[in-house]
Amino acid sequence: MNEVTITKLKDGIWNFTENAPGTAVDAYLVCGSERAVLIDALQDATGIYQKVRELTELPLAVLLTHGHYDHVGAAREFAEAGCEVYMELSDLSVLKSFGPCTLTEELFTPLRNGQVFDLGGRVLETILVPGHTPGSAVFLDREDHIAFSGDTFGSGPIWLQLPYSLPLSRFQTNLEAALKKLEEIPDLLLLPGHRNQSPRELRLPYVHDLLDTVRAVRAGTLRGETQTMAMGEEVIPFAEVSHGAMLGLSYSPEHIEE
Ligand SMILES: [Zn+2]
Repeated sequence: MNEVTITKLKDGIWNFTENAPGTAVDAYLVCGSERAVLIDALQDATGIYQKVRELTELPLAVLLTHGHYDHVGAAREFAEAGCEVYMELSDLSVLKSFGPCTLTEELFTPLRNGQVFDLGGRVLETILVPGHTPGSAVFLDREDHIAFSGDTFGSGPIWLQLPYSLPLSRFQTNLEAALKKLEEIPDLLLLPGHRNQSPRELRLPYVHDLLDTVRAVRAGTLRGETQTMAMGEEVIPFAEVSHGAMLGLSYSPEHIEE
């Protein structure tokens, strides 16, 4: 089993890191005075519910940033312990695309844009940013000036070339809407789903540069060389570009506009 390390980031917030082969993946336990949530549920790790229970006895829910298998692995443990597991349900088909899965629709509670989780002294606001997957979400903690961003911001190059990713035109619209909220906190820190692929201090300039990159690709002033990659039995085209502080944007040259 992959090693899991637990790091206290500040009072009431812990980072769980699973050192999976290929890349590490991160989940975050966020506790208020009344409730706690685990944001994402690692990949192959087991016993995570017990590890969380050693840190808090508060009523607990799981919030998933998206339906990729490396972020939902331990969700079943929590569902079986009676915790609600929130995910935007567009990502059910994404989850199933990885093959047979024991996480079926009835285990999930639908996550909605703007949905608020009041933990007591800490509030998490859901900002859906469809792009990487149709149901991708970011959770904004205004109290701590943190956005838990899954694979939407800062998990290495953002992958928008996947068969179910949104075209760049729609991602741009979603990104602009999200940025309006994120910009209300000028010193916002982004905590992504793969911290080992990101600088430790990932902040708003990254998101601004991502938006500029999307605009430049759509305008034709920035263009990556078309390559191919295997996705299961499919071979899909993609191109990668980067600009400024951002960590790379992978997109499908055939899926720029809707
Ligand atoms: Zn992902």
